Amino acid sequence: MSDQSFDVIVIGGGPGGYIAAIRAAQLGMTVACVEKRGALGGTCLNVGCIPSKALLHSSHLFEQTKAGLANQGVKVSGVELDLATMLVRKDKVVTDLTKGVEFLFKKHKITWLKGAGRLAGNGKVEVKSDGKNDTYTAKNIIIATGSESTPLPGIAIDEQKIVTSTGALALPKVPGHLVVIGAGFIGLEMGSVWRRLGAKVTVIEFLDRILPTMDGEVGREMQKILTKQGLAFRLGTKVTGAKASANGVELTVEPAKGGAAEKLSADVVLVSVGRLPNTEGLGAKEAGIKLDNRGRIEVDGSFRTSVPGIYAIGDVIAGPMLAHKAMDEGEIVAEIIAGQSGHMNYDTVPGIVYTHPEAASVGKTEEELKAAGVNYRAGKFPMSVNSRSRCTGDTEGFVKILADAKTDRVLGVHIIGAQAGTMIAELVLAMEFGASAEDVARTCHGHPTESEAVKEAALAVAGRTLHL
Ligand SMILES: Cc1cc2nc3c(=O)[nH]c(=O)nc-3n(C[C@H](O)[C@H](O)[C@H](O)COP(=O)(O)OP(=O)(O)OC[C@H]3O[C@@H](n4cnc5c(N)ncnc54)[C@H](O)[C@@H]3O)c2cc1C
Repeated sequence: MSDQSFDVIVIGGGPGGYIAAIRAAQLGMTVACVEKRGALGGTCLNVGCIPSKALLHSSHLFEQTKAGLANQGVKVSGVELDLATMLVRKDKVVTDLTKGVEFLFKKHKITWLKGAGRLAGNGKVEVKSDGKNDTYTAKNIIIATGSESTPLPGIAIDEQKIVTSTGALALPKVPGHLVVIGAGFIGLEMGSVWRRLGAKVTVIEFLDRILPTMDGEVGREMQKILTKQGLAFRLGTKVTGAKASANGVELTVEPAKGGAAEKLSADVVLVSVGRLPNTEGLGAKEAGIKLDNRGRIEVDGSFRTSVPGIYAIGDVIAGPMLAHKAMDEGEIVAEIIAGQSGHMNYDTVPGIVYTHPEAASVGKTEEELKAAGVNYRAGKFPMSVNSRSRCTGDTEGFVKILADAKTDRVLGVHIIGAQAGTMIAELVLAMEFGASAEDVARTCHGHPTESEAVKEAALAVAGRTLHL
């Protein structure tokens, strides 16, 4: 039994937790981070953002080389998929990055307490591993335990035939037919990977649209683009059962609004219907920490829970379940604990879908502005007219800027384009600084770049595009 005290103990070594630990150490505090997974980096580095983007990149290269280069005058023959090497490369990207976080912990003298952490009252955290049970004390505790895949009632995950995103990142062979349940960003990204590698992919969605949290026009346009690529969509459809057998999986589906049931067969089924906050085994309730009606830890604007000295950040609290949101909260909570002031602006958290083309958004959607009765103007510019997009051949998509009709302040931006995830950054900064559409339009953009479409969309808000 060891008894060690720290200024801060962080429970969870994901993007929220490891950044909070690093920032607290930079601010002169003694810090420990409890992580039960064999590696640091959380969902994001181990089974989320990073492995999915590695596979998206490799599968895009495969598809491009196979079919996309001939019209650019590059002849390639005998292109073959070596899935085993692709998966090994993905694993190496993950290991290099998780080792990188381990290095940063050593550099900042952060103690990694390996095991499962549990709140034990009065600033104590119990850490269980391999039958050992150690107790540590901290002046401040940060809960950053993240989230887990939401199960669907009646559908048993085996991570072989019926998988979560974790299983979908490691399928040892390309399935003949992959059925994806849920048309959110994880479903579309993983569906894209396996379609590019040769699977027939059917995406089933309960709602009548894909990417339900994004702007409606983005959802409709992305559906057209992905359909052209070969993804099949069954919208307004409910999966009521899925049974795995030696031959594959038999699904039962029916119209979301009710109606006749139908059978579908698949080789693999990916369940990607969202993620749930992870408070399992944490002792949160026993410690007196209030959860909201969706099981998330309740915090105030300074990430304080209902128990003094205990804070929470990342996927385990409300807000978009995104790594960069968790990281920013980690940085801010450490600064607040150090006595500095900190504030998170949730209006400027970008959301990116890494399909090809990408979809990226920040701020309000048109639907949200209409519902709030905000008088706004929309400026839109198609990527097909952008000169750089013509050079690369990636001409699908648009930039849409929504600005307040009276003040011209940018309220939301929605982009579909090969570089959308990178392009959105300037608009996030613009919104952080309270910029107007005119400010963006008067900013000099390099030529030829995809970002010129941003300037043109900003000009379009005032009805004066130059290239359309
Ligand atoms: C397939 C997929 C793709 C994604 N792609 C993106 C993307 O491209 N961009 C993006 O921004 N987001 C993406 N996300 C979401 C992103 O991964 C999460 O938002 C992010 O990881 C949340 O960070 P976190 O620190 O809150 O929690 P997590 O990353 O979930 O980390 C929590 C950690 O806490 C540990 N833990 C839990 N309980 C305990 C305990 N009691 N004791 C010790 N350790 C514990 C867990 O083992 C875990 O490692 C993706 C997610 C998935 C699943």
